[in-house]
Amino acid sequence: MASLPKAITDLVGVFERLPGIGPKSATRLVFYLVNAPESFAKNFSQNLLDLKSKIKICEKCYGVSETEICSICADKSRDNHTIWVVERAIEVVALENVGGLKGVYHVLGGLVNPLDHVGPEDIRINELIERLKEMEDDKEIEVVLAVSPTMEGEATSMYIKKKIDSLEKNIKVTRIGSGLPIGADLEFADQATLSRSMENRRRL
Ligand SMILES: [Zn+2]
Repeated sequence: MASLPKAITDLVGVFERLPGIGPKSATRLVFYLVNAPESFAKNFSQNLLDLKSKIKICEKCYGVSETEICSICADKSRDNHTIWVVERAIEVVALENVGGLKGVYHVLGGLVNPLDHVGPEDIRINELIERLKEMEDDKEIEVVLAVSPTMEGEATSMYIKKKIDSLEKNIKVTRIGSGLPIGADLEFADQATLSRSMENRRRL
């Protein structure tokens, strides 16, 4: 793209770094913006800046929030004795979209993956364990491992289960997955499949 103005190639380069965007899509987006009104570009850049300045990570579940504690954690009508453990914050959105989920979340921020040198201490497993330690177990706590049915998901689940068992608390650990294709990405699972696998969770 040597013949294109630098302002265009620079922005194409930025878009190409976004997930799922290849050089063709990046170029198409930039040319759309070239022709878009000035106000669109202004709003777009402002929205991006707001995203970085206003979005925080919830101190409790590590999901996205505009406040220290997110609206889900702050919601008294949610069952805080059922914790859905997910890999990434975007999966909270996928599970919320299925609807009817009464529990709360814990975002790990990744999965154990020895090949990529991601160990249990690199994701928020300790934070989950600390959270469980602080909880009253006068009624049973359920930890639902809502992670993808991949090798990494399996390894992460096994590790978490072992850690939770060593707490010797009244905690049931379950795993979603039945009905989900092997290797499926929760983010992209259709709602019916996701809903089924949420209902058919099995005890570990
Ligand atoms: Zn939260």
